Amino acid sequence: MFDLFIIGGGVNGCGIARDAAGRGLSVCLAEMDDLGAGTSSRSTKLFHGGLRYLEFFEFRLVREALREREVLLQMMPHISWPMRFVLPLHQEMRFESKTPASRLLSFVMPWMRGRRPAWMIRLGLFLYDRLGGRKLLPGTRSVDLTADIAGRALQERYRRAYEYSDCWVQDARLVVLNARDAETKGARIMTRTRVVEARVTGEHWTVTVEGPQGREVIEAKALVNAAGPWADRVLADTVHETRANNIRLVRGSHIVTRKLYEHDKCYFFQGADGRIIFAIPYEQDFTLIGTTDVDHEGGAGTVTCSPEEVDYLCRFASDYFAAPVTPEDVVWTYSGVRALADLDDESATAATRDYELRLSREPAPLLNIFGGKITTYRKLAEQAVDKLVPVLGVASAGWTAGSALPGGNFPVSETLARTELLARAFPYLGAGEAVRIFRCYGLEAWDWLPEDGNRGRDFGGGLYEAEVRWLMEQEYAQAAEDVVWRRTKLGLRMTADEIAALDAWMAKAAGRGG
Ligand code: FAD
Repeated sequence: MFDLFIIGGGVNGCGIARDAAGRGLSVCLAEMDDLGAGTSSRSTKLFHGGLRYLEFFEFRLVREALREREVLLQMMPHISWPMRFVLPLHQEMRFESKTPASRLLSFVMPWMRGRRPAWMIRLGLFLYDRLGGRKLLPGTRSVDLTADIAGRALQERYRRAYEYSDCWVQDARLVVLNARDAETKGARIMTRTRVVEARVTGEHWTVTVEGPQGREVIEAKALVNAAGPWADRVLADTVHETRANNIRLVRGSHIVTRKLYEHDKCYFFQGADGRIIFAIPYEQDFTLIGTTDVDHEGGAGTVTCSPEEVDYLCRFASDYFAAPVTPEDVVWTYSGVRALADLDDESATAATRDYELRLSREPAPLLNIFGGKITTYRKLAEQAVDKLVPVLGVASAGWTAGSALPGGNFPVSETLARTELLARAFPYLGAGEAVRIFRCYGLEAWDWLPEDGNRGRDFGGGLYEAEVRWLMEQEYAQAAEDVVWRRTKLGLRMTADEIAALDAWMAKAAGRGG
């Protein structure tokens, strides 16, 4: 019998599996699709405090997230890196009208009519710089856009900006590296395995799963529902709990265009509708723009970016960039659904991004995870396991802060030097390739890159057999989409035919196809 059975292989499920396995608990995790295939590969990919949440007075969440940025950066300096965000200032900046900050300002300064004044942004950034005890990341500065490189891509009317720090993370890789580390510590990780039933037997759980090997019944002392946007469905259909209405699904979509500008900073754009979007340098040759925020009708599994959302993001970005962004510039889109814990807020933008851990002990321990952010996954996992250990009669303390994920065991300050080392060790790697590979695999790149440069079959887009074999053997990849859209983003550089050929090759290599 396992101590813990976890439903869901997103960032929260895999984070909990790693933390629990590292504390000596026996853990089993089932993911019905690929690891990270749910929301955790569809985020904006920021380790951030969430500057915007200050307007909602979400100080607890922002402080925790700001602190976590640097903790996480040091645990994974290969898949995460600091970024600078440029926030242009202008007269038309508006609040989301429902925020407490906006209501307060309308009360004391009614003539502002919902405008978000520059001094308020400066105040927010002052707090942002200080709330989280920043040590590695540089603080806020004012920018003269008429002289700074960040001004070149923007319309001339933008003359001033603030620039602040947050971090990037390869979200889907974060999930997989947590799962791998959990497995190294003894956890059983099952992918493409759906939990179809979880029933209480005496004081423990009997869980039925359906996977590639058929049906299996597994027993566990405690159950964790980390099914993200599916959490309510799992409660209703799988655990048969009658009260299953805890989350609200809000869709967020992104568009990807060819590179729109030539520097490595991101933009934080404010709209006249009170919303904000980011424009971020993406995968060396592209720009990522997002996100929208709309209540999602339909299941968590059917999420796509609508033409209206594409138009909205293009129009929003075109209000800032000197050259308009049009739907024709869009090379890829992706969407995800946030599972937000708070049902009381009126607007999707206003709903809280904080999380809630709900433990019921009777008749057998069940921990439900509602909400959460990528940035807070480690803290969430630590708190989840802290709640479970007394129930399981075990004494143990959190250990994950400062413990590197696979491939990330080096100081943040050495990232550039280590990347150069990789390029020198494998001189056959093309321009930009060493950077891509180091940012995916860190020190583990040395484990699969061949010295003689013979990487096997060329699948196109910079993907070779040696990398695919590593991903199949070490990182649970089973289908082409796992490789080209989650373990890497090489799908952006491959044709549909190349991806189909990779899929056929992988099926054959795994003994599944002709
Ligand atoms: P998921 O990743 O969805 O994982 C749940 C998993 O459970 C899924 O993989 C699903 O397949 C599995 N599952 C469901 N039912 C079953 C079953 N019966 N059996 C087995 N498996 C099952 N956060 C940040 O910190 N920074 C950001 O920049 C950011 N941007 C975001 C942008 C968007 C558009 C969205 C939608 C979210 C963003 N977030 C961000 C939030 C963050 O992505 C989520 O909070 C996080 O990924 C949730 O992880 P999770 O593990 O709870 O859910």
